[in-house]
Amino acid sequence: MESRFDLVVLGGGPGGLDCAHASARLGLSVALVEREALGGTCLNRGCIPTKLFLAAVEPAHALAALGKFKLAAGSVTVDLAALQERKKKLLDGTRKAAGQKLAAAKIELLPGAGTILPDKVVMVRGSEWERTVSYGALVIATGARPAAPKALAPDGDRILDSDAVLELAEAPQQLAVIGGGFIGLELARFFGQLGAKITLLEALDRLLPMEDPEVSKAVLSAHKREGWDIRLGARVAGLKSEGQEAVVSLEGGAEIRADYCLVAVGRAPNTAGLGLEEAGAKLDPRGFVKTDPHLLACEGVYVIGDANGRLQLAHAASSQGAYVARHAAGRERLPYSPGPIPWCVYGEPQVLRVGKSAADLRAQGAEPLASTAQLAANPICQAHAQTAGFVKCVWAYGRLQGVTAVGHGVSHLVSAATIMVAQGWNRADAERLVFAHPTLDEALHDALLGELKPA
Ligand code: NAD
Repeated sequence: MESRFDLVVLGGGPGGLDCAHASARLGLSVALVEREALGGTCLNRGCIPTKLFLAAVEPAHALAALGKFKLAAGSVTVDLAALQERKKKLLDGTRKAAGQKLAAAKIELLPGAGTILPDKVVMVRGSEWERTVSYGALVIATGARPAAPKALAPDGDRILDSDAVLELAEAPQQLAVIGGGFIGLELARFFGQLGAKITLLEALDRLLPMEDPEVSKAVLSAHKREGWDIRLGARVAGLKSEGQEAVVSLEGGAEIRADYCLVAVGRAPNTAGLGLEEAGAKLDPRGFVKTDPHLLACEGVYVIGDANGRLQLAHAASSQGAYVARHAAGRERLPYSPGPIPWCVYGEPQVLRVGKSAADLRAQGAEPLASTAQLAANPICQAHAQTAGFVKCVWAYGRLQGVTAVGHGVSHLVSAATIMVAQGWNRADAERLVFAHPTLDEALHDALLGELKPA
């Protein structure tokens, strides 16, 4: 017998899970369809395992920083096999908890792959069963996967994508990384700290090309100091595994050899074969689904998270999921408008960004100003002997428009910075707020009150 739910979610990543819970809290009957593991990319192959890995290499870095002042000596060895074991246990436990939380919220979990049929029906195929469910609203939260052009396609042998590299049982001695974006930098940082010689190839003329150029510059010098061979403007033309080696061919003929090569040149949405186009949705050439201001792709079908290509971040998906729950339950009429969505790049140095950059503001015709504080003057950074980097506030029309920072621990400033940008703070607001001393947050205060210069 076909069952009916007010709302059916395809995909159990952060977007899908949060949407399902928010909908259930609003009184809707909800089913969640997941073909693999609960938690999606974030839990299984993304945010969570990479942060676990990066945390394990932090002590060695902290020791090295103090060692430069002869304050401490010794060494820290990271056991990758033990780390993999801990990862497995942590992820298993978190997936189990996610399942229990669904059950407690009376959300029906359908462990299979869903496709859209006509008349507001979804076919769900499990390993040994099929079932149709009808819905009032459908939410596509199917996420994305590592993607690369044909010439850069991972072969699972020596050429790996970001999913496969997280499963390595042995640390490579040399790792070639293609792509100086979030994924390339975070994973290069981890394997570099494990002892791999890193060669990083970025096609554009700077790392983190979407960030403030001064942030890119600071990240470049930090990693150069760590001994990475970073080549900017290096476009990779081809990749192959040869015996125990990855062979990377650059446009122009140069060749790089390493134990492994990580391809981190972007991600593609999981939107093919779901029946979206047949249902009336429009996909762009890369497969991202076009959504209207209410995140609807066509009548009754919402698309959230990586699948709509707005921002490929777990918390963006969650925020969209919560909005869709309210909209589907009739509690929200206004278009989706979440305010500034912050992000951080982890590793060492960290990067934080929220709101508009100076380039964004110039593009909209403003004449932005910037006020900056160097971390060298911050007592917490001084205590940790990690003083490279800065916090920069970007202003226009007398209001704070964006904050960006690079350096040790700056991700901890992200929520304070987000509140200030969301509330459009002016300098007087910053003067009135008392910041605790001594804290890293004082660097944000100093930046807010710093000398204003054209940005
Ligand atoms: P990205 O788009 O951020 O970076 C890919 C980089 O590869 C770009 O700098 C690009 O210029 C470069 N590139 C492309 N083709 C190349 C070639 N042929 N040779 C050399 N370089 C080439 O993509 P990503 O790093 O794969 O990350 C994907 C998404 O995942 C991002 O949107 C990001 O938001 C998300 N993510 C977020 C976090 C976080 O929040 N901390 C961490 C990891 C990933």
